[in-house]
Amino acid sequence: MKRIATTAARTLVALALAGCAGAGAPARSTSPQANAIGAVEQTSVDVWMLDIGQGSCVVVDCPGRLIVFDCGSSGGSSNELTRNNTEAATAWVRERARAAGALTVLVSHADADHYNLIAEAAPAELTDRVLLADPLHMHGAAFVEWTSNLRGGEDAVLEFTANAFSPADSDLQCGNARADALIANLAGSAQTNPHSAVVALSFGDTSVVLPGDAHGATERAAIAAMSSLPHLSSNQTVLIGSHHGAGTEGSNSQEWIGAWRLQGAIFSMRPTSYQHPTCEVVRRFDAAMNQRLAPHEVTCDGEEAHQTRDRILTTHDNGHMLVRLRGDRLSIYCQRRTPGCAGRLPAAARLPGRTAPTA
Ligand SMILES: [Zn+2]
Repeated sequence: MKRIATTAARTLVALALAGCAGAGAPARSTSPQANAIGAVEQTSVDVWMLDIGQGSCVVVDCPGRLIVFDCGSSGGSSNELTRNNTEAATAWVRERARAAGALTVLVSHADADHYNLIAEAAPAELTDRVLLADPLHMHGAAFVEWTSNLRGGEDAVLEFTANAFSPADSDLQCGNARADALIANLAGSAQTNPHSAVVALSFGDTSVVLPGDAHGATERAAIAAMSSLPHLSSNQTVLIGSHHGAGTEGSNSQEWIGAWRLQGAIFSMRPTSYQHPTCEVVRRFDAAMNQRLAPHEVTCDGEEAHQTRDRILTTHDNGHMLVRLRGDRLSIYCQRRTPGCAGRLPAAARLPGRTAPTA
């Protein structure tokens, strides 16, 4: 395992991650077939938001590589989500990883609802890079065991230790797309949520932003990092709600929501005692967008229904989702369609349906 603390280590990380080959990356093979594949023009980047209950599981299709940004759930067999649903979703990720041939995993912070499905979803024998915002030992025995079998060996695990993060460390490449890690392991808190890695994945003029369970302090640090990445504030953006839409500890602040040119918001959640997202946070997103879609309802505060005319979606209301970044525009496809969805998920994706609630 490596802790990122030295310039040498940072250089190593950047080089290692640059190995994620795509149309814009240097050719890694001299075989004509590989070069031909590398030359295929990349016209979009697909970001899959899986419906895994109260948790988060995001998968990005890159040329020759899958990137998993968190995969975990504390929903279990309750909250309408059966173990079968979770198993079907992780089997889908495994199959997609095998088709891609290589895997990068990033865990935003060491809370189980962000990593406890990774050992099941991500084949260790295909995984050559694991980025952690919290130290490995904080991630539970099954996850630590999974990292002992990585294709990349123990050096595949890269920890962002306190005060040792810089955006230059996280040169995550995805073909012609770019992934900017704005912050990870924010210093000064003993809690895990504020340590969340905040990653913006961009393709052309379109972005999706993954903030983990960022608190207000994390969001402020990410906003400060945006000053050196001016493309981010002008890109058409889908913002994943911080901390599943919580409003505590300054999450989903007005300042954070206002930092983006918003085209949509997605909350990964299930109605539980946490009551994510809160209706107050949903109203903040509403106030930042003025899209005049057909009126529809978004679940908030547990089982409340908030009326909106903006592109606000939840995994509870909409099931699995696909955010397709096309460079000049973006679209969201949904398992269950509401007016913010461009259409249903492509049938070719063969994403598992959700079985009926047990209650
Ligand atoms: Zn969480």
